[in-house]
Amino acid sequence: PARAHDDPEVALELDRRHVFHSWSAQEGRRPMVVTKAEGSHVWDQDGNRLLDFTSQLVFTNLGHQHPRIVEAIQQQAATLCTVAPAHVNGARSEAARLIASHTPGDLDRVFFTNGGADANEHAIRMARLHTGRHKVLSTYRSYHGGTQLAVNVTGDPRRWANDLGSDGTVHFFGPYLYRSAFHATTEAEECQRALEHLEQVVAMEGPATIAAVVLESIPGTAGIMVPPPGYLAGVREVCDRNGILLVADEVMSGFGRAGRWFAVEHASDGTVVPDLLTFAKGVNSGYVPLGGVAISDAVHRTFADRVYPGGLTYSGHPLACAAAVATIETMEDEGIVEQAAALGAEVIGPALAAMAERHAWVGEVRGTGGFWALELVADRATREPLAPYGASSPAMDAVLAACRRGGMIPFANFNRIHVVPPLTITHEEARRGLAILDAALGEAAAQAG
Ligand code: PLP
Repeated sequence: PARAHDDPEVALELDRRHVFHSWSAQEGRRPMVVTKAEGSHVWDQDGNRLLDFTSQLVFTNLGHQHPRIVEAIQQQAATLCTVAPAHVNGARSEAARLIASHTPGDLDRVFFTNGGADANEHAIRMARLHTGRHKVLSTYRSYHGGTQLAVNVTGDPRRWANDLGSDGTVHFFGPYLYRSAFHATTEAEECQRALEHLEQVVAMEGPATIAAVVLESIPGTAGIMVPPPGYLAGVREVCDRNGILLVADEVMSGFGRAGRWFAVEHASDGTVVPDLLTFAKGVNSGYVPLGGVAISDAVHRTFADRVYPGGLTYSGHPLACAAAVATIETMEDEGIVEQAAALGAEVIGPALAAMAERHAWVGEVRGTGGFWALELVADRATREPLAPYGASSPAMDAVLAACRRGGMIPFANFNRIHVVPPLTITHEEARRGLAILDAALGEAAAQAG
């Protein structure tokens, strides 16, 4: 290797000595060293080529080392690496135009951030200033980011240790028929009861105190629960009737992941338009940190003559924006959104449905596009999860280990396996990864007896 730290053993040793990692105890880990990546594959320190069924953290939507994105970053770096946010930069202007050309309705202005959490922080700040109200309603089973407000809006166990019980965050239940909070037995019933529940929470909290309802158009890490028809339109209606802004978090579900440019387009034939839409990850396949808020005309007008009290040193960083321009142009030119829809409909959906026939552990299969979850249960009748909420289990660990041995990196959360490969994956590669998952489920179940 040219430099000492290019040696995977040195990299690992330095990591263990000096790097503090996210969401984990620091001792006793032996993380994988990624030495190389290309398309849908990564290579580990032992030279194993692994199929990436995670898109890392569901962000390499165009796969690794896409030549157009790499070249755009190189060209931008050679021209102008960075400017302060107040200056105009061509890459930023064009990225904003391209994003606005795909966001629904009048979400035509873009405030750029460094990632998803700060996008949600700013969306909430805008909603509070626009409405003059302070509370934020969000769902249990959601993830909105790791910063203080974003993690308090979050509805998953990562909030617990960070929850100061303040900041006006209130949680409610979204639709999730498989584990219905409303004892519903049909999607229509789940939809209606979830909306009645939201209506009651709004009434009990006091509509005049609520600035925004924040929700993922399709909840991602929390389980890829595609909302039933009519739900998002119903939430939009509850918000309108009560003067509440609707913030759609499309950090994970946006930019083709769900087989549409934005997952909210699945709702009611694309007629649901949020007031604010947050994005990150897929906007530039995560090659350089970037997130943002797409802003409606009405919210934009609030800050026409009034200072917006927020900003970031790297808002609209040229390298990140150049990567976004290349990503979106590639998505347009190569029909990546349509490709993602076909990947789900023709390959992943049918393969997972077949696995549900074969493996008793598969309780439910759900998803769309390149965004799928297998919910694993120890008992189909009681729906007892194969791992408890907020943890893993020996059975889940066995499935994951078998996937790795088979040459595929799986995305797991508690008792679920998410199938979230790059949207550019070939059908042949996808079938190979799905066959590895299929075999892993069989192997782990046999092991468990
Ligand atoms: N919102 C959603 C739906 C996410 O999935 C994530 C990250 O996984 C975030 C927000 C936070 O994004 P970031 O980690 O870039 O701050």
